[in-house]
Amino acid sequence: MSTSVTFADLGLADPLMRAIADAGYTIPTPIQAQAIPRVLAGGDLLAAAQTGTGKTAGFTLPILHMLLAKPLELRKPGRPRVLILTPTRELTAQVEESVKTYGVHTKISSMVIFGGVNINPQTNALRKPVDILVATPGRLLDHCQQRNVDLSGVEILVLDEADRMLDMGFIRDIRKILALLPRQRQNLLFSATFSDEIRELSKGVLNNASEVSVAARNTTAERVDQTVHMVPQAHKRDILSHIIRESGWHQVLVFTRTKHGANRLAEKLVKDGLSASAIHGNKSQAARTRALDDFKKGKVAVLVATDIAARGLDIDQLPQVVNFELPNVPEDYVHRIGRTGRAGAAGSAVSLVDSSEVKYLKAIERIIKKQIPQVPAPTGWTASPASPHDADDEARSEGRRDGPRRPPQRSSRPAGPSSTGAPRPARAGQGAGHAPRRDVQGSGRAPSGHAPARAGSGGPVRTGSGSNSPSQANRPRRPALFNK
Ligand code: AMP
Repeated sequence: MSTSVTFADLGLADPLMRAIADAGYTIPTPIQAQAIPRVLAGGDLLAAAQTGTGKTAGFTLPILHMLLAKPLELRKPGRPRVLILTPTRELTAQVEESVKTYGVHTKISSMVIFGGVNINPQTNALRKPVDILVATPGRLLDHCQQRNVDLSGVEILVLDEADRMLDMGFIRDIRKILALLPRQRQNLLFSATFSDEIRELSKGVLNNASEVSVAARNTTAERVDQTVHMVPQAHKRDILSHIIRESGWHQVLVFTRTKHGANRLAEKLVKDGLSASAIHGNKSQAARTRALDDFKKGKVAVLVATDIAARGLDIDQLPQVVNFELPNVPEDYVHRIGRTGRAGAAGSAVSLVDSSEVKYLKAIERIIKKQIPQVPAPTGWTASPASPHDADDEARSEGRRDGPRRPPQRSSRPAGPSSTGAPRPARAGQGAGHAPRRDVQGSGRAPSGHAPARAGSGGPVRTGSGSNSPSQANRPRRPALFNK
């Protein structure tokens, strides 16, 4: 991420330079080096940059600079000068956190607006003047209709992760919002890719925009050994626990779609004797830092993370990444697996895919332009009793986004993870494709306390046959893998 431009070269105001120093940044990332001067020059911008490139500071820093340079005489309640639209509540919170971090030595005020929560506290907060409003489109429109927000004073509009907003069906809401903005304004559009749809959107939003594009953070997808195991959602925890133990993985980053799912998986792994922790947005920064530290030092073998929590984590060159669920945004897959296989290092990414996730798999294969080999999941694992929380997981994973109101983004996925067709049971003697590759059939080392496997559940151990498994003593085992 290095460039020859320094922050001093960018001419940012002193309070911002201090915040940059506080954050420990020494040099601008490529997107910052390219975007900041263009934004400061006042023109519109179309920027291709993925999460993880430092794009948020790429627009936040120059915006703060411009607001500082042109203070308003009279600030009115609920009348922002800057509107930043994002697709999800997580991103909204994350962007506003950046605004606060970089604006810490200024008096510039900011607030977030997103759906899925009580509107009243937001309405109350909007009774005060706000400089920078970070919002998801649907809830913002609610506030506009209730006249809590007045967008006629917006000087700068940012569409962040515009491609995801389009994917999530926000285009109509965006159009309605555009109609409420003054014609004379600066527009910044950030997107992971310049798809035809993004080009179309940018035509309607931007004027004489300059374009910047930084290489996707991950160009290593080709070098990563990728595998898919088709497994029912209900068995993923058991299967993953088995794979980790059998393959002797000592440093594995596992991605789940929800915070709740991350917690439950980490708990299950710990129960099975593995050393694991979960990191996600609900954990304090201190807890996250501690978990990350332990993981880096090898004290914890398995780090379970949501995409949002994994952002900005300085962990790459990992030997192993697992997608416990596929992301519904295909670019996130590339981002996830880019954590491994960097700089020529060997890396492997395993995805556990329920039949309800096949549509995500197809979308991912389209963007990586190759088919990911499907390998039968290893056998020899023991099914835990179905948990009443399993149905919750899916409901939560669908409900956590601040989705668009129209058209509704209803998932075709069933509420219960096990209700869709289970894949054929994996056959004996077929390796999982993990390193070290081995026959993992029937180890007989089932985690204690598990109920007997149910029929037709896709390959759990039914009896404790350990006949052709390598002896336990011969298995490479690293101390960090297990709890002491
Ligand atoms: P973003 O792509 O905006 O989500 O940023 C990804 C991560 O990079 C965040 O954790 C930022 O704190 C971090 N970051 C942003 N700019 C810099 C920089 N110039 N130097 C080091 N880290 C940075």
